[in-house]
Amino acid sequence: MEKEKDEIMINNLKQYYIDSYKKEINATILDIKENKIYLDKTIFYPEGGGQPGDIGFINSTKVVDTQKDNDKIYHLVEDVKKFNIGDYVLLKLDWNHRYYYMKMHSAQHIISGLLYNKFNVRTISTHQGELNLTIEIDQNHFSQEDCYKLEDLANKVILDNKDISYIETTKEKAELFNMRRSIKVDKMIRIVDINGIDQIACGGLHVKNTKEIEKIMYIGFEKIRKHYRLIFRIADQVSKIYREYDRLIKQLCTLHSATLDSLYDCDKALLEKKIELEKDIKSLKKENTNYIITKLINSDTKNIIVKDISSYNIDFKDIDIDIDKAIFLYKKENDLLKWYIYLGKSFENYSINDIRKDVLSHIDGKGGGKFPVFQGKGNFENIEKSVASFIGYFDGREE
Ligand SMILES: [Zn+2]
Repeated sequence: MEKEKDEIMINNLKQYYIDSYKKEINATILDIKENKIYLDKTIFYPEGGGQPGDIGFINSTKVVDTQKDNDKIYHLVEDVKKFNIGDYVLLKLDWNHRYYYMKMHSAQHIISGLLYNKFNVRTISTHQGELNLTIEIDQNHFSQEDCYKLEDLANKVILDNKDISYIETTKEKAELFNMRRSIKVDKMIRIVDINGIDQIACGGLHVKNTKEIEKIMYIGFEKIRKHYRLIFRIADQVSKIYREYDRLIKQLCTLHSATLDSLYDCDKALLEKKIELEKDIKSLKKENTNYIITKLINSDTKNIIVKDISSYNIDFKDIDIDIDKAIFLYKKENDLLKWYIYLGKSFENYSINDIRKDVLSHIDGKGGGKFPVFQGKGNFENIEKSVASFIGYFDGREE
């Protein structure tokens, strides 16, 4: 996001201020640094005020960006070796790219002007993106209803075929205008004027008439820190996004065998069903886990049980048993060992701290719990030693 800028110096170099609709021009190369070409005049607008730098061609070589270097402008080219200082070259703008941003920038003036005049809302910063025009405002809320009202007003300005003109004046005289932002530069300035909508000192490029913007569409907002950022699309991007939404909604209707009116209810019912099913799956999984574990433990007549359950799809958290045995379960999960110790009623008096010390030290076992369940993680390397210790711990003490 960038602040709107009012710095402007009209000179022979900046031909885009003299005629912003000029698509081609001849110029002489004054300097070459790395892949940067400096010319005696240019129609390429350098990035600034939220508007990207122009692209196009110098002769047949691609210009990938245009940037400012104080009062100088340089053109970043793909193959600088083709040029020498003093060359007389042909500059050709990527007009679609430039014209799109002229429309977007003009749309921004309309929206910011309306926000100021009709809603008493100020623009803090703007961004002209490949798809979206984003305007950050000095408010932490702007209702959906107001957004639509703003959109309608903006489209009305487009339909009104309002001319966008310029007033070149001194700072002193400019201060008498009713502008939505004070002037920061101290020289001759250019005020862009959209009759009755916006009047502001601006160094960007605009279309001649509001009708060229074609259409403005409000598509949403984002909240950044304390501010609202309103997001818009303009010109042919409006029908593009409309068609995208339309295609998506029709696909959803087909998928759900629903009409446009019943789509929301259909989707809501599906979501509720999904939540219900997930609950059922969870409870079935738990039931299944306890069935497997109980069967596994009861198939062994011993009171001290150790089992590797890696081959079963079991989560220790699902285990809920009441068996009077001392049980040590473990499994391999992503190269890690997960362990689970359960002590039945008769083992109440054994010290879990001692068991932990004797058994888990071999596997570097970490974890915890409270009687009768303890669980955690460790490494697999010395699991046999842990198993032997667990059995050995109860040896001779078992009743
Ligand atoms: Zn402007």
